[in-house]
Amino acid sequence: MNIFDMTMENLGNYLRDNNENPAKSGILFDGIYKRGVRDFREFGFSERVVEKLSAFDFVEPKVVRKLQNESAAKLLLELADGNLCETVLMRQRFGACVCVSTQVGCNMGCKFCRSGQIKKRRNLTAGEIVGQVLAIEREFSCKIYGVSVMGIGEPFDNFEATRDFCEIVTEDKGLAVGKRHVTVSTCGIVSEIYRFADSSRPTSLAISLHAPNDALRSELMPINKKYPISEVLSAAEYYTKKTRKRVTLEYIMLEGLNDGKNHAEELASVIGGRDFYVNLIPYNSTDCGFSKSSPEKISEFCAALKENGIVATKRKEFGTELNAACGQLLSDYT
Ligand code: SAH
Repeated sequence: MNIFDMTMENLGNYLRDNNENPAKSGILFDGIYKRGVRDFREFGFSERVVEKLSAFDFVEPKVVRKLQNESAAKLLLELADGNLCETVLMRQRFGACVCVSTQVGCNMGCKFCRSGQIKKRRNLTAGEIVGQVLAIEREFSCKIYGVSVMGIGEPFDNFEATRDFCEIVTEDKGLAVGKRHVTVSTCGIVSEIYRFADSSRPTSLAISLHAPNDALRSELMPINKKYPISEVLSAAEYYTKKTRKRVTLEYIMLEGLNDGKNHAEELASVIGGRDFYVNLIPYNSTDCGFSKSSPEKISEFCAALKENGIVATKRKEFGTELNAACGQLLSDYT
């Protein structure tokens, strides 16, 4: 078993099931995540406890390639079974933020996303997602302030690992990232949005909307045929009510497709009076056959949303020159 797969609660349960004091899980978390201890003999526990803990290994990904410039960095990591995964570091004004992947490949098939063209090989475990944060902290000697679960994969197509990962990174005795500084982004798997809202530690949530009507959204994102916009937005509304966190709607600006003033008005109307926040994303170039909207078009769209009472901002671009931006991950390796 990989120790990095364990939430503090699960580790406590393991200890209890083995007739040990579950409170030792806190000591273990503190040592492993805060002091970097990688040997159970260093905790001062008895031989008996060390023996029971020897059921766990410290499995961390291997860094295969490292790219960086002043604002962003990208790591290509090799997992224990040889699969590859990519992780991005963004040096924001307020602190270091990491963007983690949740799957090897992705089955959602969004037409504009380069990463999505690599079919899913498998889900990552919680420990493999944690391993990405650890690798970034180690390689770039930084303390992570924020986490975006927006790398390769659909987090809600790997629900348990994503949920456990969120618990582990936000654990005070562990990596201690603020709950508000962790954002899970989903293409809109409605059942799991409700499930995450009802889980013990929901984080911030972003939903990839990208179109103001079902006809266009279904063309761009096949998942819309299963979960249309009205259901996605009802789930988002539930999420806001349940967690008291405002949900972000992500909207990629695609030239001539979804970036007209009429689209902005349609978007404002489907949102209605609901308290969502729209994040406009300049499209990062890929070989998927889409072009990015001009900065003027994006500003006009943003202004039209605001005129219609919607809170909207434009996302800062990171890592395009490293092919490290949204929708570009792993495109150099396939
Ligand atoms: N599967 C999740 C998380 C991964 S993608 C989701 O769909 O939300 C993270 C964000 O990047 C999503 O909003 C996705 O739609 C967007 N994205 C994908 N390709 C992109 C591209 N080429 N340029 C800009 N954003 C892109």
